[in-house]
Amino acid sequence: MATQHRHTIVIVGGGSAGIATASSLLKRSPMLDIAIVEPKSEHYYQPGWTMVGGGVFRAPVTMRAMKDVMPKGVEWLKTAVKSFDPDNNAVMLEDGAILFYELLIVAPGIKLDWGRIAGLEATLGRHGVTSNYRYDLAPYTWQLVQQTKSGRAIFTQPPMPIKCAGAPQKAMYLSCDEWRDRGVLGDIDVEFHNAGPSLFGVADYVPALMEYVEKYGIGLNFTSNLVAVDGEAKQATFATANGEVTKDFEMIHVVPPQVAPDFLRDSPLAAESGFVEVDDFTLRHKRYANVFGLGDAGSMGNAKTAAAARKQAPIVAVNALSVLAGGEPVAAYDGYGSCPLTVEKGKIVLAEFGYGGKLLPTFPKWMIDGTRPRRLSWLLKSEILPWVYWNGMLKGHEWLVKPDTPVAS
Ligand SMILES: Cc1cc2nc3c(=O)[nH]c(=O)nc-3n(C[C@H](O)[C@H](O)[C@H](O)COP(=O)(O)OP(=O)(O)OC[C@H]3O[C@@H](n4cnc5c(N)ncnc54)[C@H](O)[C@@H]3O)c2cc1C
Repeated sequence: MATQHRHTIVIVGGGSAGIATASSLLKRSPMLDIAIVEPKSEHYYQPGWTMVGGGVFRAPVTMRAMKDVMPKGVEWLKTAVKSFDPDNNAVMLEDGAILFYELLIVAPGIKLDWGRIAGLEATLGRHGVTSNYRYDLAPYTWQLVQQTKSGRAIFTQPPMPIKCAGAPQKAMYLSCDEWRDRGVLGDIDVEFHNAGPSLFGVADYVPALMEYVEKYGIGLNFTSNLVAVDGEAKQATFATANGEVTKDFEMIHVVPPQVAPDFLRDSPLAAESGFVEVDDFTLRHKRYANVFGLGDAGSMGNAKTAAAARKQAPIVAVNALSVLAGGEPVAAYDGYGSCPLTVEKGKIVLAEFGYGGKLLPTFPKWMIDGTRPRRLSWLLKSEILPWVYWNGMLKGHEWLVKPDTPVAS
């Protein structure tokens, strides 16, 4: 007979969202019986990978041992979830065990679907083909930026949804800034190919970004979707409204298409999109009252960012505790997400917005005008936010994100 485990709360995924939620729960209820299912030995601060690709951080500062970020008192089951059986309050684990819960929190992130681009996986990390979307490849981006002196440099963005929708551009601006510094930008033909129709989804930030596009001389190509890469031939093929177009490149920074993880997509918990089907505001599952979902795996229409998870985690914590006690959710998420667009080394356009593209700045405009490039925003990204991530968010300190509800303590 299969091994059986039982826990009051089971959290799927020990990433940004899963760890932050566990810590927020334990802050409110220190004796709570929580298990986190997480197969990896390492935990990553992925927002730092843009800085690694830009030569600002070294890769190891974005990684910590998973055991060191697991909140004390949580039971870590170091295996993956294989499938969900929400009608029986159970999840099946890869190691063959069955895990029963009173309340389930689903946070396994988003799947990077490298295989959807023909030829890509075989050439990643070689022949000038790179991506800041992988820990091991972000240093290669910086290496390529330093080596490139002429030729075409291509930066791609796949169809939405993706995590951190600004990251494809951030890689491009930081590269251009370095080339400008070294006096070679004029010899490099920089192109941005976006499967979508515009530079950024929230119009308020576009003017500042366009100033940089013009300053760096970037060629913009919208509805141009990367479909194949031939590393050895140094050629990339795009599907466009006018058919397929193939381009030579010296280097290419690829952002992979992204989809819901297979085991979630194929489960009763999935929405049509494949993501966990939760209410946009309470983050409770629409059909299973004792299931919550958050982070990149959620069906909500927010920008998929760690900043969003930072806001969502305390909301899930107070709502989950209320449901466990026999009540209803009491806190609501406003769709907050944030995307610090690194337009040059030392300056950032700090996009912060919620559902419907409503601007939700954390700081008053006189301090940081998020629609303009600002040095203070760079300080936030390079120094303050990483510290807040490791020492605040993952430890249950809800600075500036405490839910506005009588239940919050
Ligand atoms: C290049 C890049 C730049 C970014 N820049 C920013 C930024 O500037 N600002 C910002 O706020 N955000 C940024 N992000 C996005 C941010 O990192 C994610 O939105 C955030 O990590 C989402 O948290 P999560 O917990 O949902 O997913 P993750 O942190 O990815 O964690 C998911 C976890 O689930 C685990 N898991 C997967 N499958 C299973 C399974 N079957 N069973 C159990 N566990 C499983 C995984 O191992 C992983 O540990 C960036 C991301 C990238 C890649």
